[in-house]
Amino acid sequence: MTLDSAGPRSRALFRRARRVLVGGVDSPVRSFAQVGGTPLFIGRGEGPWIVDADGRRYLDLVNSWGANLLGHAPPPVVAAVRAAARDGLSFGAPSEREHRLAERIRREIPMLERMRFVTSGTEAVMSAIRVARGATGRRRIVKFAGGYHGHLDGLLVRGGSGVASAGRADSAGVSPAAARETSVLPYNDPAAAERFFRRRGDEVAAVIVEPIAGNMGVVPPRDDFLSTVDRLCHGAGALLIADEVITGFRLRRGAVHPTLGARADLVTLGKIIGAGLPVGAYGGARRFMDLVAPVGPIYQAGTLAGNPVAMAAGEALLAARPPGTYRELEAAGATLAGLLQSEADRARVPVTVNRRGSMVGLFFTPGPVTDFASARTSDRATYARFFHGALRAGLYLPPSPMETIFASTRTTPSILEQQRVAFRRAFAAAARGGG
Ligand SMILES: *Cc1c(COP(=O)(O)O)cnc(C)c1O
Repeated sequence: MTLDSAGPRSRALFRRARRVLVGGVDSPVRSFAQVGGTPLFIGRGEGPWIVDADGRRYLDLVNSWGANLLGHAPPPVVAAVRAAARDGLSFGAPSEREHRLAERIRREIPMLERMRFVTSGTEAVMSAIRVARGATGRRRIVKFAGGYHGHLDGLLVRGGSGVASAGRADSAGVSPAAARETSVLPYNDPAAAERFFRRRGDEVAAVIVEPIAGNMGVVPPRDDFLSTVDRLCHGAGALLIADEVITGFRLRRGAVHPTLGARADLVTLGKIIGAGLPVGAYGGARRFMDLVAPVGPIYQAGTLAGNPVAMAAGEALLAARPPGTYRELEAAGATLAGLLQSEADRARVPVTVNRRGSMVGLFFTPGPVTDFASARTSDRATYARFFHGALRAGLYLPPSPMETIFASTRTTPSILEQQRVAFRRAFAAAARGGG
């Protein structure tokens, strides 16, 4: 593929980066390996926009993979980070910012009787799984195909996000023993879950699920899916882990799984609660969380966990959501999905657009897209042409066909409407040479 939409400065920076960083990037989904060409190097972000190293401005529809709920550099968050940084960057001792952020999170997710901050979503999931195994004395973890829960060994099995796009069912370097302790079920298939639990329910320590799948594009759960998973999981004496690293605080205040028929025992959070700084968290009922050190026998620690600057950022972000925030996000998502559908129709490019709130999944397939198998029918070559067409028209989309497109409160319907011609050019590019 010869498409390359990056400017000369990004290209030069990428050449230099590749001499010291593996593949020039610190996370493979940023590498443009799925769409071809050179990744844009970002100089700065302002509200809904990002500006690359060549000084070109783009409407940002990645938003740090969902972490930026309020767009780039929201002033109250930046002010809080500045103030916290002046007071010291890290102590390795408790500071009141940690329990203040925890109190604020618990106000919106009351089942978090106790929680612990860590530094990434991966770490939150890894720790929640350790708690589930410690609490049940069992080893098996159940996940759903196309779900992504971070890069811990045991869950790099039929994952979504970068793992899916790379077309690998698995990762090298994962011990077969770790992979064998994970069972993968199809998402949105209650009957398959019933069959599995009838045979092996008593081996299961935990079921982990993204309540709305967001790492194979957006795939919302069927009405009876999460309630069935909940019933089977609890009937088998296993813990239900709601992985809300994307969905937490994005679709409503707090977590989304209670509105979808599930009662999780443990919840994992990340992305938005750090407002763009490295933060993750896990928590749940006291009877499980009090198994964690120093109260209980399950060890889990972190030199930079509860970092004061990161805590200040999270607290400021959660405080900076006026009433109406989630209505605005809903309107942004609806406008974005409508634009994508209508411009695709106009260009006669068959697409399926799945959406919940400000999370939009665009699939180059007639659909419907209800699980990993149907998500993977999205045509990658068409996505690559669409992606580069969009980039040239000033729209920055996920550089991979299996990812969620995120709006922020700054991606307003009127800004989106102003970009209609840009979307039109992107779909024209998608249609060219397409079958
Ligand atoms: C992003 C993500 C993770 C991993 O979080 P990192 O901070 O990238 O380690 C885990 N679960 C879900 C659902 C995610 O979207």
